[in-house]
Amino acid sequence: MERTARAFKENVKEALQQENLAGVLDIMSKFSPIGRNIAIGKLPEFEALRDDARDIKNHVLANLDFYLEEYEAKVIESGGHVHWCETHEEARQKILEICRSVDAKLVTKGKSMITEEMHLNAFLEDNGIIPVETDMGEYIVQLADEPPSHIIGPAIHKTKDEVTELFFKHHKTQRWTEGEDLMLEGRKILREKYFEADVGITGANFLIAESGTSVIVTNEGNGDLTQSLPKVHIVCASLEKVIPSFEDFSQFIRLLPRSATGQEISVYTTFSTGPKRATDPDGPEDYHVVLLDAGRSKLLGTQYQEVLRCIRCAACLNHCPVYTAVGGHAYGATYQGPIGAALDPVIVGLDEARHLPNASSFCGRCEAVCPVRIPIPKILRYWRAEAFESKSQPLKERAGLSLWTWFATRPKLYRLLAGAGVAVLAKAGGAKGHLKRFPFLSGWTNHRELPAPEGKTFQALYKKAQKEKGRVSP
Ligand code: SF4
Repeated sequence: MERTARAFKENVKEALQQENLAGVLDIMSKFSPIGRNIAIGKLPEFEALRDDARDIKNHVLANLDFYLEEYEAKVIESGGHVHWCETHEEARQKILEICRSVDAKLVTKGKSMITEEMHLNAFLEDNGIIPVETDMGEYIVQLADEPPSHIIGPAIHKTKDEVTELFFKHHKTQRWTEGEDLMLEGRKILREKYFEADVGITGANFLIAESGTSVIVTNEGNGDLTQSLPKVHIVCASLEKVIPSFEDFSQFIRLLPRSATGQEISVYTTFSTGPKRATDPDGPEDYHVVLLDAGRSKLLGTQYQEVLRCIRCAACLNHCPVYTAVGGHAYGATYQGPIGAALDPVIVGLDEARHLPNASSFCGRCEAVCPVRIPIPKILRYWRAEAFESKSQPLKERAGLSLWTWFATRPKLYRLLAGAGVAVLAKAGGAKGHLKRFPFLSGWTNHRELPAPEGKTFQALYKKAQKEKGRVSP
């Protein structure tokens, strides 16, 4: 996938023109929160579980070396291999080496963001190996030659009609128009690939240190076929996926599906520990874990560390007013939405991803729904400050920010000008209370009307409310 995070502003303009995308995102933004709310409403201990999950992750991050070494020892004990890879290139080369060791021509892949991060498909193709995505959403975007647009719903931006045309073009069978027919056709084609594949590659939602087990949480069952039918199973995971025990896993599994899809439990939760044993009826003969760092260990002990708690549930995307307006492709990097804005600067560098931390209204919904309580707005503020300090923004932006600082640190002047600005906007909004056009606000008004303020600043309204309650405002 070509990186276009640097062109975020242009990507956004393009995304906002796409009517199909707007429709899909509109539905998603309405229904995802409802599903999550229903699911968590049935679990009174949900908030306590979030605290536990945060604490477990913090404990692991404080003792990451210990748990990773414990995990590695257990994988080896169960007959598997662990490959420590500092960079994407090292991980790609290691995967290629394993594939070549069995003369692999075709590999099946379960859903894995980490392999997206390392652009594994293109690399394998360049080296004469055909990768086949088996998660239906991933399969669709692979056929479309597009990157995923959502962490757990890779093809969420595609309409049914688009999938019809895509399948017809590639499968050359019937032009199916019903969702069920499309699914059945995709399923039939993928079934054959599982048997042809020499290697199966999956990601891991969790790595359990006490047993050397990798866990995938899925809804389609494709991950199970990917990892159990080929001769070799390669697990690709980043360092922070490790957790101490099954007991800890039982906490996370109550949070993940509820936060991700509003399900009480996903359809499949699959545990893999080493290769097939003599008494097992099936399973891979060889089991490898590619453990990728790619900049994560540098975050330990820094103000960015908390981002490593992420369990990739995508709740922050589903609730984000920016993501649900522009979709995932606009971000132009592996991870989208609020977690993308917080994590992509680590993966591709702040210079490349410098616009992403600005893709936030700071409404705080991402933090409010995050099952591991990652303070994403705070992390985005750190990135913004670092971008400013490193002078990576264009001079015009830096000058604007300096001017704003000057203005915002003079309360009397700020109140005076903000009050005048609000009065002008209120007048321009007229009886409708909306602005269709306004100088300097075209970034907003080109795509939607701007609600006009009611004529008073927030500070004035707050002061009035405090007075009515008989309190003295600061
Ligand atoms: S940051 Fe939190 S809400 Fe967003 S994907 Fe990660 S765990 Fe889920």
